[in-house]
Amino acid sequence: MYDEFPMTATLINGTKIAEDIKREVAAEVESLKGRGVRPGLAVVLVGDDAASSSYVNMKAKTCEQLGLYSRKLTIPSTVTTEQLLTEVRKLNGDDAIDGILVQLPLPKHVNKHAILEGVDAKKDVDGFHSANVGSLVLGHETLVACTPSGVMELLYRSQVKIEGANAVVLGRSDDVGKPQALLLMHANATVTICHSKTRNLPEITRQADILVAAIGKTAMVTRDWVKPGAVVVDVGTNQVSDRAQIERLFGKDEARLKDFEKRGYVWVGDVDERAVKDVASMITPVPGGVGPMTIAMLMKNTIKAARMRRGL
Ligand code: NAP
Repeated sequence: MYDEFPMTATLINGTKIAEDIKREVAAEVESLKGRGVRPGLAVVLVGDDAASSSYVNMKAKTCEQLGLYSRKLTIPSTVTTEQLLTEVRKLNGDDAIDGILVQLPLPKHVNKHAILEGVDAKKDVDGFHSANVGSLVLGHETLVACTPSGVMELLYRSQVKIEGANAVVLGRSDDVGKPQALLLMHANATVTICHSKTRNLPEITRQADILVAAIGKTAMVTRDWVKPGAVVVDVGTNQVSDRAQIERLFGKDEARLKDFEKRGYVWVGDVDERAVKDVASMITPVPGGVGPMTIAMLMKNTIKAARMRRGL
């Protein structure tokens, strides 16, 4: 069946689309400046995890590039939930701060739910507060999680027809799968949500005109999971450090092998990109697809929070 439908999917260039969005944000920052407003983002880092620290630095650097005010709080991992809540409340009351992001994961002894609920919903640029999730369910304008809203931007800006499409979301996490399904439903897709207990996954994913994979399982979505002509969005970011597996997935892809030599691992999505490219009409690469959108949407959310809070 699939051999009769050879196709080379167009790659959706998330890096370029994210740059477009960042340019738009920079222009908005400029126009807000004229009204005496400089949107500000506070990023809270608990502990010294190298990956979290690098994400936080990247966010602060992007703020700087786009003209936003940024503040980084580094808090020792021994902090208690109450102490962290006190810091978050100070940011809630700080007029220079429009957006607050608490970098996850938090140490196990800290009550993540209490912290995320402690952030003022109006400053919740991650879109994790229950008030914002509730507004999303109701379809009200609100702050929405960055990764799924980034996926929607990728689809819109690639002229993908969402209305009436069958969309399948693989994964039901609070930060990706659930908000993704809601956003697609509000955009008038017919949405199916799959998870680890779903039976006959490939049978369901093969119904999808739009397939969003967010499960954290290396290259699990293969060619026979995808309907010919489908648009495939790969949210997954999995570190692969086995050279044989990399060669199995990408062949002698020189750029990737060079990357592997340099770092000792490469990023691989939840989709077997090389195989699925032959059957999908469009696909987001990993890296360079959804990843760059998350930070661009965080900047966009900070502007949105600044406007909403001031009624601009
Ligand atoms: P998560 O919280 O671990 O959730 C994973 C979801 O996938 C769960 O709903 C789980 O089902 C489901 N799942 C796991 N194994 C499955 C299987 N074998 N078959 C079907 N469903 C399965 O992960 P997440 O935070 O949503 O992230 C998902 C992936 O996206 C990860 O690779 C993460 O690194 C990546 N990510 C990327 C970005 C970005 O900016 N590019 C941002 C966020 C996340 P159950 O609910 O039944 O357990």
